[in-house]
Parts: sequence; C-alpha cells; structure tokens
Amino acid sequence: MKIVFATGNSGKLHEASEILGEGFELVTPAAMGITEDIPENGKTLRANSFEKAKHIWDKTECSCFADDTGLEVEILGGAPGVYTARYAGEDKNPQANMDKLLREMDRRICEASIMRELGIPTPHANRRARFRTSVALILDGVSHFFDGVMEGNIALSKSGAGGFGYDPVFIPDGTGGLTAAEIGDTMKNAISHRGKAMRALADYLRHQ
Ligand code: IMP
Repeated sequence: MKIVFATGNSGKLHEASEILGEGFELVTPAAMGITEDIPENGKTLRANSFEKAKHIWDKTECSCFADDTGLEVEILGGAPGVYTARYAGEDKNPQANMDKLLREMDRRICEASIMRELGIPTPHANRRARFRTSVALILDGVSHFFDGVMEGNIALSKSGAGGFGYDPVFIPDGTGGLTAAEIGDTMKNAISHRGKAMRALADYLRHQ
C-alpha cells in the first residue's frame, strides 16, 4: 500500500517505515511535489495532526497520515503542550526550549515553596511530565486517530547526547534515572509516545 507521511523529517520517516514494515511504501510530501510548509494552527495535538494530514489529502487524495507531539509538564499546568516545538521561539531551538523549561520549572517550584512558607496551602511541587503523540490517518477519505504516551519526570539538568528535542531533560519511567538521551534508540522507540502511536497505526493498517 502506498501512503503519504506528512513529514519533512527523515528520522521520523525511517522510524515509521521500520515500524510499518513490508507491504507499505511511504512517500513524502516533497516526493508528491508539495514543498510549502504544512500548516499546524490547531489548539490541540489532534487538531494539528489532522490539519497536516488533511492538507495532504486535499492536495493529493492519497491516503496519508501525520503526527504531532507535545510535552505536558504538571507543575506548568500542562505547558508547553501544543506549543512544545516553539516554546522558546519560532526558531524551534532545542537548547533554548530546554533552558526555558528548566527556568520556568525552577520559578514555579520556588513560588510554591514561598506560598507554603506563608502558610498558603499549596500542593508540593513535582517534576512529573509526559510526551503525548497524536497520529491522524486519512484512509480513503475517512479519518482515524492513534495516540501514544510516555510518562516520566523532568531532570534537574540536561544529560546525555543521544535522541533529539527535549530528550536530555526527560527521564522516562523505568529507565533507572537515565534520560531519553542516554537510553539508545532501540529502547527509546520501544517505550516512546511516537513508537506506541505508530505501532497502533501499523496494527490498524495491517488489518485493512
Ligand atoms: P513534533 O510534533 O514531532 O514536531 O514535535 C514537537 C516538539 O516535541 C519538538 O520540539 C520536538 O523536538 C519535541 N519532541 C517530539 N518527540 C520528542 C521525543 O521523542 N523526545 C524529545 N523531544 C521530542
């Protein structure tokens, strides 16, 4: 089956083709002559993944899928969420994003301890966070959604040279304190939000 993956990221393309396996030919928007930036103006991950897939469907009428990922940090009330990529600015710089995240968390934790000292009941600060991925599939014009979550904690500082994005500050549950940048690709793909959502997509497609 030929299917378009609405991404310009070669790493994601490789990961998706490994997970989908034989029987699927993954095509990029660029290979279909779609070179403009694919819009993502939604207020939720699902709205964004759908908007990206719909953009491809409207132009090609080929079955297609798109993904969108956000990091939700409890003490930040679920931020940066849908704004994860652009948290520190439009240039989507991963180092600046992680620096801003650690700064904002320090600020909130400090505020919470002052409130408690003042006798104002305030929940204890925690560093719980999760990555969430939404995959939107448009198959023969009908849309379907697949989700994946990776739970963990935000580290006190960056650690590790592997992975990408926020991996150096994200400690997935079950890694014994290692960040996602320290566990290697095989383990990361086995437990990651995107790996889970992509495997759910693959299961669905294989049963069509
Ligand atoms: P996107 O939706 O894949 O473009 O990802 C949105 C944001 O989340 C970007 O800042 C990515 O760097 C970040 N991100 C997505 N997946 C991961 C991951 O597995 N580890 C760390 N950061 C990620």
